[in-house]
Amino acid sequence: MITAHPGLPEFDYIKPTTLDEASTFLAQHTGEARAFIGGTDTFVRMRDGAWQDKYLVDVKGLPGMNDLKFDPAKELTVGAAVDMNRLISSPDVNAHYPVLAEAAHTVASYQLRTRATIAGNICNASPAGDTVGSCLVLDAQVRVHGVEGERIKPLRAFFKGPGKTVLKAGDIVTAVQFPLPPQGAQGKYIKLGRNAIGDLAIVGVTAFGYPDRTPSGYRFLVALASVAPTPFMPDMSLLSKKPVNEDTINEEADVAMNSVTPIDDVRGSARYRKLMVRNLTRKALNDVWEKIR
Ligand SMILES: Cc1cc2nc3c(=O)[nH]c(=O)nc-3n(C[C@H](O)[C@H](O)[C@H](O)COP(=O)(O)OP(=O)(O)OC[C@H]3O[C@@H](n4cnc5c(N)ncnc54)[C@H](O)[C@@H]3O)c2cc1C
Repeated sequence: MITAHPGLPEFDYIKPTTLDEASTFLAQHTGEARAFIGGTDTFVRMRDGAWQDKYLVDVKGLPGMNDLKFDPAKELTVGAAVDMNRLISSPDVNAHYPVLAEAAHTVASYQLRTRATIAGNICNASPAGDTVGSCLVLDAQVRVHGVEGERIKPLRAFFKGPGKTVLKAGDIVTAVQFPLPPQGAQGKYIKLGRNAIGDLAIVGVTAFGYPDRTPSGYRFLVALASVAPTPFMPDMSLLSKKPVNEDTINEEADVAMNSVTPIDDVRGSARYRKLMVRNLTRKALNDVWEKIR
């Protein structure tokens, strides 16, 4: 009998007490051990037979992983184990990084968000990750602990392909850091799914804009989900060079559409995705423009 869900296989549950212990264990068991936090991707992939790790390494209790700290002079630090509901209800996140809370709010359901994390969404490296676009436009930096100590990786240089990142054997993401957003910045996340909640994005568009010393007086950034092998940022530089108006926003929406390479899958055709990239990019840019003009 062929079953789509073979069931959760046996594995050893490992709960290290220090980051060094965790990185060393993961490095010594490359290919057969996996770090996890919320487990909302991990256990589904294990149950479906896609992942067959012998060891699951629970890193959510390690030092610093549960920190959610805002330093008004510097940055927001979201520990890797901070679940999405906690992030969404943070006054600091809502005041200074509302687009991050808005994106997290579109992930599945309240119940799932009590487990799911931003770090897991990033490390899973799905092109459809809902929170990744907001992290990209906000210029998130990923704090990584590895066998050689700690380092910071810019999220914009983190993804290598579907399910693939720059993380090496033994690497554990400990936090995602967000610099202070530029003065007057505003953002918008629009998710197109097959239903209102609980589905992955057919297309996800994050737009972000702020007044800047450019010829137009503004700078805009867009990040797209589910339309390329990795989360993708099309070039929006026209809106820095030319006056921002209906025509230039339409032009940039066309640029976004023409720069994506979506696939056909059960959630939507490539053609539909391309057209929706244009429509939703236009809508998201207009929303941001209304707020910052
Ligand atoms: C029913 C359901 C609905 C979903 N709906 C959505 C949705 O609407 N939008 C969406 O974007 N996602 C959705 N997801 C996917 C999932 O919930 C998210 O990707 C979530 O953010 C993953 O976080 P997590 O902490 O549970 O990750 P985990 O499952 O713990 O980990 C995910 C991956 O990241 C790696 N990893 C985790 N933590 C670390 C770490 N600290 N260091 C290094 N690697 C690490 C793991 O090894 C694994 O490869 C859904 C999942 C389910 C089961």
